[in-house]
Amino acid sequence: MISVEEALEKILSYIEVLEPERRPILDCLGQVLAEDIYSTIDIPPLDNSAMDGYAVRAEDTYGAGESSPVYLAVVGEIAAGSLPTRAVKAGTAIRIMTGAPLPDGADAVVQFENTDEMTRKSSGGDLSQIGILHQAKKRLNVRNRGEDIAKGNLVLEKGRVLRPQEIGVLASLGHSVAPVIRRPIVAILATGDELIAVDQPLDPGKIHDSNTYTIAAEVSRYGGIPRILGIGRDSIQSLTERIHEGLDADMLITSGGVSKGDYDIVKDVLAEHGEVGFWTVRMKPGKPLAFGIIKNVEGGRKREVPHLGLPGNPVSSMITFEQFARPAILKMMGKKTLAKPTVQAIIEDNIANNDGRRVFSRVMVTKRGGQYYASVTGPQGSGILTSIARANGLAVIPETSKGVKAGEIVQVQMLDWVQEQGEQRTWPIVTIVGRSESGKTLLVEQLICEFRRRGYKIAALKHSHCGDIEIDQPGKDTWKFAQAGSDAVCISSPRKLAFIKNSDHDPRVDEVLPIIGNEFDVVLVEGFKKSNLPKIEVHRKELGDDLLCSPEELSAIVTDGSLDTPLADNYKVPILSWADTAAIADFIEKNFLRTASGEGKCLP
Ligand code: AMP
Ligand code: MG
Repeated sequence: MISVEEALEKILSYIEVLEPERRPILDCLGQVLAEDIYSTIDIPPLDNSAMDGYAVRAEDTYGAGESSPVYLAVVGEIAAGSLPTRAVKAGTAIRIMTGAPLPDGADAVVQFENTDEMTRKSSGGDLSQIGILHQAKKRLNVRNRGEDIAKGNLVLEKGRVLRPQEIGVLASLGHSVAPVIRRPIVAILATGDELIAVDQPLDPGKIHDSNTYTIAAEVSRYGGIPRILGIGRDSIQSLTERIHEGLDADMLITSGGVSKGDYDIVKDVLAEHGEVGFWTVRMKPGKPLAFGIIKNVEGGRKREVPHLGLPGNPVSSMITFEQFARPAILKMMGKKTLAKPTVQAIIEDNIANNDGRRVFSRVMVTKRGGQYYASVTGPQGSGILTSIARANGLAVIPETSKGVKAGEIVQVQMLDWVQEQGEQRTWPIVTIVGRSESGKTLLVEQLICEFRRRGYKIAALKHSHCGDIEIDQPGKDTWKFAQAGSDAVCISSPRKLAFIKNSDHDPRVDEVLPIIGNEFDVVLVEGFKKSNLPKIEVHRKELGDDLLCSPEELSAIVTDGSLDTPLADNYKVPILSWADTAAIADFIEKNFLRTASGEGKCLP
């Protein structure tokens, strides 16, 4: 048996980058640029306006304000695409549209909103004059000639993978075709006497050929051009004929006929035409794999076509395609990143590994509370194609592992991108709000004690109104790092971890929660009254009956005396007694403490 890496290395050693060609830019999506692209023009070609407004001389607007407009004579208008016919002189302005070239004399654009144009229009006023309501600095709302791309500059370098934005750049430079590494043509052949073409009715005991289509779609997805050869029967003659049809392709992929079954004759046919290796790869599913080089003479020219023989089972065939055919196609296309993107996820089911192979389990990965979770998509038989149709990733259990238990971290190769799930309810979180001096902090303290007693793991989060939080002691090393100007300081020790980061805004609670992580049974938050999190307001009689939040936003009110308003009856907000911490904790436990899977925590 050989490892996945050894198999891949051998395959890639026979794969060459294909030659460049020139293609219409819209056909080049995902292809690799084969030459450096320099600009022969400036973009934008002239200084122009970034706003709809009035082109002015900045100095004419000095001192302008809402209550002290500066009035300028309007001497013309310029639309995008036309050239100015006159200049802006002292005391004048020209109405200008976004993208229109800046007229001579002007050095700033005042947007419509900062003029009295609307008022004039609605009152049928005189538009030969305009009132400027804001003073403009020089170059305000002016885009400089060549600020995006300057003439002569290297804009896209050879090796770049063309995405929609690069295709847009090529268009802006006036390229309708681009030099790219050619897409590989991949011939696809299914094998088996049991197979029926997709458009034919099924006979008893037969199945439709699905591998051809999974593989063809995979080839297209990764940028290749699939060439479907159809179904080869389990006879030397049939396979030989079909394989010959695929020999002008850049690669041949067959499925089926590579295991030890009686009718597995792909190897016999291939051995006739070149080199072929049969490997047992240390992976599950997808153990048998064939790889060879078919020697071919085409128009007098010797050609070698790499052949990859995938197992017939539909799931094995797709997973082995992902591991071996995908990197080969990407390499032919000139791509450098061949590994599949992976994420680390918490596995939600146990996965066994009994025979020391690398297991690829079909999983659905979701992101909740800033953390990836992977759950196995039902029965994992290598013939169950729907197990991979329900999956967006492959959890990889190393050959050295005996398996993983739910809750452990696994690496997941992503087939697609991860689904984001609403984070609202998955956080076991409750916010305590209230006026200052209402006793919020004391309540949070008491709840921490109470939840601790009940066996919960707790995190507490406090929103502070003061601009700077000083929790480091002057003179300590971390304090010195912060003083020196580090934007974030993190310190870890065997028993504690702290992280302090500068912020240019007051962080919202959803920015803070991912830092706390999701290992806690409950996060008690003090403050953040504007968030959408479940809220409990603390009311203190001596501060009056007004509440900080409107009752619709509240899950409960905790009060130290009777609340003399009909709130409770009107809005049905539960009212709890400040003195009864246990009852408040019961309320929170019942309403908010749910694990990510939606079940309440079982207490001893
Ligand atoms: P083989 O590798 O040829 O022994 O095939 C293994 C299993 O995969 C058998 O159950 C085949 O019927 C099935 N199989 C092989 N080729 C295909 C295909 N093109 N589409 C669907 N199933 C296939
Ligand atoms: Mg077969």
